[in-house]
Amino acid sequence: MSVPNIALNDGTSIPQIGFGTYKIPNEDAERRVLDALEAGYRHIDTAALYKNEEGVGRAIARSGLAREEIWVTTKMWNDRRGAEDSRRALDESLERLGLDYVDLYLIHWPAPANGPIAETWEALNTAKAEGKMRSLGVSNFDYRFLPELLDTGIIPSVNQIELHPTFQQPETVKASGERDIAIEAWGPIGQGKVDYASGIIGDIAAQHGASWAQVILAWHLQKQRVVLPKSSTPERMAENLAAASITLSDDQIAEIDALDTGDAGRLGPNPAELS
Ligand code: NAD
Repeated sequence: MSVPNIALNDGTSIPQIGFGTYKIPNEDAERRVLDALEAGYRHIDTAALYKNEEGVGRAIARSGLAREEIWVTTKMWNDRRGAEDSRRALDESLERLGLDYVDLYLIHWPAPANGPIAETWEALNTAKAEGKMRSLGVSNFDYRFLPELLDTGIIPSVNQIELHPTFQQPETVKASGERDIAIEAWGPIGQGKVDYASGIIGDIAAQHGASWAQVILAWHLQKQRVVLPKSSTPERMAENLAAASITLSDDQIAEIDALDTGDAGRLGPNPAELS
C-alpha cells in the first residue's frame, strides 16, 4: 500500500498517514510499531507524554529499515519551557528514542499559564539548525495561539490539532493555511467516541464498499491533511492505510464538511485551559 507524501513549508516531505501511539504502553510499543512498519507505515507519532519513546525507538532499530525511511515525530510536554529546559527535553527524547535526530519536533500544547512561548520557540529553532530535528512545529496551537509564535518570524511547518467531522476547527485550519502550515489531524476518526458508523458517513462507506473509518481518513487525505490513526490490531492498521486508495466525490466531501458542530464536537481539552 503506497501512502502519498505532502510537502512541508521547509522543503521536507512527510507521509500523509502516520501511526499514532497515544496510550500504547512502553512495553507494547515495540511490537505495535513493528506491526505498523510491517503493514507499511513509514511515519510514527509519539510524545514524551506517552512514555513509550523507548519502545518506539527499539522498534525502529529492529525494523531493518534505514533511518531515513521512517518519519519520526515526538513532542515536548507542557512542563518543559525556556531556552535551556526545552533543549534538554529534546535531548532526553532523542536519548529515549535512540536517535540522533527526529523528523518533527512539536510543542505539545500552548499551555498559556506556563508563560510566553517565544524564548522556547527560538531555542528549538536553534536546535533545528544544529540538526537535531528536520522540521519544527506545534500542536494544539489554535487560531488564538498562532500569532504569538508567528511574531517571532519563525513559521511552524506543522500544526497538529484535534480534527474530525464533528470538530473541524475552520478558523485554525484557515490561519494555518495562510502561512502554509500543514495540518495534522489527531483523533482523526473521533477516538472511538463518536458514532460515525451510522448516518451520512455510513451511507458513503456503503457506496464505496469501505468502512466508516476509511471514509473519514479519505476525507482528511483529500483535504491535504496528515492523519494519525491509532490502532492496536494489524487488521485495522492495514484498513486505515488502505484509505489512501479511496477517492470521494466533491459532493461526498461537502456532505462530511457539513457535519461540523463547532465547539460542541470537541473531545479533548481546550488549549486555553490545559497547562
Ligand atoms: P483516533 O481517532 O485515532 O481513534 C483511535 C480509536 O479508534 C481506538 O480506540 C481504535 O481502536 C479505534 N480504531 C482505529 N482504527 C479503527 C477502524 N479502522 N475502525 C474502527 N475503529 C478504529 O484517536 P487517537 O488515538 O486519540 O488519535 C490518534 C493519534 O493522534 C494518537 O495516537 C496520537 O499519536 C495523536 N494524538 C495527539 C494529541 C495531541 O495533543 N497532539 C492528542 C491525542 C492524540
